[in-house]
Amino acid sequence: MTLKPLNTFSLNVYAHQVVTAHSENQLLMLWKHALQINRPALLLGSGSNVLFLENYTGTVLLNRIKGIVIREDAEAWYLHVGAGEVWHDLVIYTLERKIPGLENLALIPGYIGSAPIQNIGAYGVALQDLCEYVDIIQLDHGTKLRLNALECQFGYRDSIFKHRYRENVAIVAVGLRLSKFWRPVLNYGNLKQLDTHNVTPRQIFDTICAMRRNKLPNSKTGNAGSFFKNPLIDTKTAAQLLACYPDAPYSPQTNGGIKLAAGWLIDRCKLKGYQVGHAAVYEKQALILINIGQASGLEIATLAKYVRYIVADKFAIWLEPEVRFIGAEGEVDAIGALL
Ligand SMILES: Cc1cc2nc3c(=O)[nH]c(=O)nc-3n(C[C@H](O)[C@H](O)[C@H](O)COP(=O)(O)OP(=O)(O)OC[C@H]3O[C@@H](n4cnc5c(N)ncnc54)[C@H](O)[C@@H]3O)c2cc1C
Repeated sequence: MTLKPLNTFSLNVYAHQVVTAHSENQLLMLWKHALQINRPALLLGSGSNVLFLENYTGTVLLNRIKGIVIREDAEAWYLHVGAGEVWHDLVIYTLERKIPGLENLALIPGYIGSAPIQNIGAYGVALQDLCEYVDIIQLDHGTKLRLNALECQFGYRDSIFKHRYRENVAIVAVGLRLSKFWRPVLNYGNLKQLDTHNVTPRQIFDTICAMRRNKLPNSKTGNAGSFFKNPLIDTKTAAQLLACYPDAPYSPQTNGGIKLAAGWLIDRCKLKGYQVGHAAVYEKQALILINIGQASGLEIATLAKYVRYIVADKFAIWLEPEVRFIGAEGEVDAIGALL
């Protein structure tokens, strides 16, 4: 079965089968069945953070467990959200109910179940700022666990779900805490022009949607958003780099390191528009790799490899992919695939 509509790169790859789970029991049953036929199984949301390098030999399992339950007290609203809810729809759902807090994360593609994995973030807000807990099922033995936010070990585009709980684990629900003492986060782009004292969550939402629509390729152009993570470097290396490139954007981190803008590094290598076959560096935002027609996963990976080498050659910084690479049998090490 083709996975073309199930990955935002729009790669025409195939899986042995695609099945959908609407409940935890169904998820467990479908997982067991996939293993019984001696095939690997892969959980998938909307495929907006994956690169299929080739056809997948196993079962793709779509987690579509739905449901939103809201309770509140004097301090906050508490949302328990099924993994199969669409992230952006939840942002709208909360705003319509006058519950602020998610507006900066508008228009991030994907499902709730995927959001904690790379701790989605945008415009000064990350999931970790709002997440209370994540419910998981260990699929091999059916054990259900609730991890609180600390146990999720959230970091920049990182969490325990990329490490200890990476394999054979399904996220089935996420708990969010949205404070009733809302404070706008207006540190980026056109948000800076809004008035901190009078701005509404809806205005922030609209501004962010407009900025994202302007910056990101439209949904017809295959891509997976930022292909690489913004590199984190130590202050000494940052000082050396900034001495040579005083205009390089950077942000100091609470742990003492410095975060650079991967898009700026790629742009400085004059790679915007650079093409390998049907894969290209997006003209308007160098951090995004796009499928300009019938690209294969390998073409996108070859382009990514080239970008990595050119950036390392100029800046001595090796970019790490944010996107997860999927081979015939399952996830493969993305850095290893680009060596
Ligand atoms: C145009 C565009 C813009 C983007 N902008 C941003 C942004 O601003 N900020 C940001 O952080 N990200 C951004 N992304 C990346 C992406 O939207 C997020 O990573 C999102 O959370 C992925 O959701 P998904 O459902 O598509 O996950 P998928 O790509 O389907 O899956 C991602 C990984 O999670 C695993 N997985 C999926 N569901 C489950 C589950 N229920 N349990 C266990 N494992 C699971 C998959 O096996 C895979 O390894 C962008 C992507 C695009 C295409």
